[in-house]
Amino acid sequence: MATTPDQVEAQPAAAPPRAAAAARKTRHRGEGQWGMGHHTPLNANEQFKKDDDGLNVRTRIETIYAHRGFDSIDPTDLRGRMRWWGLYTQRKEGIDGGKTAILEPHELDAEFFMLRVRIDGGRLTVAQLQAIAEVSQRFARGTADLTDRQNIQFHWIRIEDVPAVWQILEAVGLSTTEACGDTPRTVLGSPVAGVAEDEIIDGTPAIEEIHRRYIGDPSFSNLPRKFKTAVSGSPLLDVAHEINDIAFVGVVHPEHGPGFDLWVGGGLSTNPKLGVRLGAWVPLHEVADVWAGVCGVFRDYGYRRLRNRARLKFLLADWGAEKFRQVLQDEYLKYQLIDGPAPEQPSGVWRDHVGVHKQNDGNFYVGFAPRVGRVDGALLGKIAELAAEHGSDRLRTTAEQKMLVLDVPEERVESLVAGLEALDLRVNPSPFRRGTMACTGIEYCKLAIVETKEKGRSLIDELEARLPEFDEPLTININGCPNSCARIQVADIGLKGQLVTDENGEQVEGYQVHLGGALGLEAGFGRKVRGLKVTKDGLADYVERLLTRYQAERTEGERFAQW
Ligand code: SF4
Repeated sequence: MATTPDQVEAQPAAAPPRAAAAARKTRHRGEGQWGMGHHTPLNANEQFKKDDDGLNVRTRIETIYAHRGFDSIDPTDLRGRMRWWGLYTQRKEGIDGGKTAILEPHELDAEFFMLRVRIDGGRLTVAQLQAIAEVSQRFARGTADLTDRQNIQFHWIRIEDVPAVWQILEAVGLSTTEACGDTPRTVLGSPVAGVAEDEIIDGTPAIEEIHRRYIGDPSFSNLPRKFKTAVSGSPLLDVAHEINDIAFVGVVHPEHGPGFDLWVGGGLSTNPKLGVRLGAWVPLHEVADVWAGVCGVFRDYGYRRLRNRARLKFLLADWGAEKFRQVLQDEYLKYQLIDGPAPEQPSGVWRDHVGVHKQNDGNFYVGFAPRVGRVDGALLGKIAELAAEHGSDRLRTTAEQKMLVLDVPEERVESLVAGLEALDLRVNPSPFRRGTMACTGIEYCKLAIVETKEKGRSLIDELEARLPEFDEPLTININGCPNSCARIQVADIGLKGQLVTDENGEQVEGYQVHLGGALGLEAGFGRKVRGLKVTKDGLADYVERLLTRYQAERTEGERFAQW
């Protein structure tokens, strides 16, 4: 039987390591690891985090900045601590990608913010979605994007409006706490937790417990960098567990029954690594403790000297799984984890739950696909209305920029599907609409070199028109820069935004192509095709040619990732 949140006892935050003094002499110097006694900040980020906890900026926003306006914001708060509350300055309009690397940060800052709402487990009620829709329409010029970490992001937020936005969100139990920054980010969870007919275990109580105990807890608000978590008991492995810092994946232990297989150290960006199994089985009621232990290892032993080596994956690469597990057990948990089995291969290729599916209680859930996660406040309001009209009070976001309505009685399914389709939210989308994701890109992101969302939308439309018969699972992920917010390395076709030279010798927006990446069955990174770059304008032609060749050359049953 699933443990409820009330049955999971609160535990204190992970204790600091005892072996620090002994280890101090033997470890190499200079990585800024607290657990090795290195507490002197080695870069500007570590300095501002030491000077004042990022969580404390909220008081200044409410009492000073919201009243005195954008120009009153301390620069370190503006480009540092405000992230702890989900706020990033957005890119100034009209600055092209060629200027991204050469301008000073303040020259790229607009006087508006992106604000990320954390939606742990992707779980939303109708009232929560209505609140998000209200914020979008009143304070964000109608903007809203579904992210591939189950969050929803606004743009055009003014500092003056932030307290009112928090009031609306918090009144319905939502928050922006630690939605960005060097913190424990939104916990991914299976969108069909608790309702899927084939579920191994419902991870919801663990997600709620992690959130209740540790989000906003100063014990974990100064990590070396971001810390991403995923929990899923679905046999579809639907939370991209391979690329999270920590993941709990549903398995059945031959003696102990359903629980979770523990993975650590996954992450993409410029040095991608797949997560590694520690070979440990974790029962539901221990997930939050183990989470705190691993997060504690990261906080204390994670590298803080260089930002590009500060993710958990670098520590894991140096230590290896065996040592990592030993330190976790000896210094943090104070007990031995139980050895356990690996998860089965995923039970399907698509992991987004799009379509109509029967629940374990006889009702149905309906998954639908906007284009590349782009929605808006008015549309979200209509989705909330449709859900309520069809007897549902539960919606979900997915890790694939899609959404679900749960708990729909069988006799109401057809009407809901018709209502969604009328809003251009496809329940039976083409593989192109279903499998294409895009990051924020140059429209709002200060790191971007190229545009992504509009390109993604037009690419879907063009491929649907050019290849109407194409009916294979396929992922096309578009990023606006070398970071990997849209997971380019694990897509069938990954497109990394950069400036490229066109046939006239001009520098134009385009993409470096990565082919053959995957999560799930054959998890691995796509190979960068040396020299293969396409211009933004030539992208649809390129993908059409590639897919036409694949269709002509593939052997029976051969998927794109295997071709
Ligand atoms: Fe911005 Fe780059 Fe991330 Fe896209 S991948 S959202 S351009 S940082």
